[in-house]
Amino acid sequence: MDNLLTNIELEQLRTLLDEAHKIVVTCHTNPDGDALGSMTAMLSVLKRYGHDVVGVAPDNWPDNLNWLPMMQDVRFYAKHEAEVEEVMKDADLVLMLDHGRLDRMSALGDVVARLNAPRVVLDHHPEPEEGPAFVLSCPQLCAACEVVYRVLDQLGWLDGMTHDEAVSLYTGMMTDTGGFTFNSNRPEVFLIISRLLEKGIDKDRLYRNVYYTSSADRYRLMGYLLYVKMDVMHEYNTAIMTFTNEERRMFKLKNGETDGMVNYPLMIDGMRLSIFMREDTEKKNCIRLSLRSVDDFPCNEMSAEFFNGGGHKNASGGRLNCTMDEAVEIVKKAVRKYADKLRG
Ligand code: 5GP
Ligand code: MN
Repeated sequence: MDNLLTNIELEQLRTLLDEAHKIVVTCHTNPDGDALGSMTAMLSVLKRYGHDVVGVAPDNWPDNLNWLPMMQDVRFYAKHEAEVEEVMKDADLVLMLDHGRLDRMSALGDVVARLNAPRVVLDHHPEPEEGPAFVLSCPQLCAACEVVYRVLDQLGWLDGMTHDEAVSLYTGMMTDTGGFTFNSNRPEVFLIISRLLEKGIDKDRLYRNVYYTSSADRYRLMGYLLYVKMDVMHEYNTAIMTFTNEERRMFKLKNGETDGMVNYPLMIDGMRLSIFMREDTEKKNCIRLSLRSVDDFPCNEMSAEFFNGGGHKNASGGRLNCTMDEAVEIVKKAVRKYADKLRG
């Protein structure tokens, strides 16, 4: 496997990490399996090497990720502001995983910006910011967990990799590739998986832990969304679904339970793009969008052009400050603008 870092970069990173006693590890808002997987793997490795560590997420994560190892060392900022600011104030280094910009951390980004500590980015999103002392972002890799694995391997810090670290790293790679169904054709992905399997992880169980732990209400919601709310624009090989806070109350949904709904319309033959729109639970007139595509359709370009967002080619997100009806009109306009690429 090729090295991601030159020898000079490797030693720069090693020095930054070695010299920091207290390291705060952060991830992006709406933490997913890759955000928490990369964070918990890194927390465990850094702890093994004698660092004082804490993981801080901007907000809460879905319940189906609670079982990840090391979650006892992860806090979330929203609703625990004072406690998190207290644990962060004497940080020597902030390690940003699965995101390359402070603005992907909502209000937590302002807290990090005010710290004196240098920042290190290990990520796989395009366009990381320029402020940090060290930035490695590899959009060609399948997950932040792959970046973290390869960097740790190059540092020589995986020699004592634990079973739990392998669990965290596998989970991030699995969730960011939809269980290795997209963005996962490179042989390196499977070389890494085979190394993780050597640690005795039960990958079949990890899959079930994440994907087969839905509540009954969430499954009913899926039926409702597909039956009542899905608008299939056959002409554009695109499906749109909307979800309001009133519906959220009706289905008694917990945090993160709409995650993944955006994927289902792509199972319809010929669909190239699926867009899921949901009202923000806190802010009025704020619509959150999730986009998923197949093959070459660039969700991130559409998100950046129309939805104040970005992300990966096949998975991106954004936000619109307007009503749901207005947001639907903007989405339809975007779809018409990209008609040529959608008809493929
Ligand atoms: P999700 O649909 O799961 O919320 O987001 C999918 C992916 O899109 C995320 O992993 C992230 O890479 C990206 N993303 C989501 N929202 C935003 C946003 O507001 N800005 C940017 N730049 N990327 C986003
Ligand atoms: Mn990721």
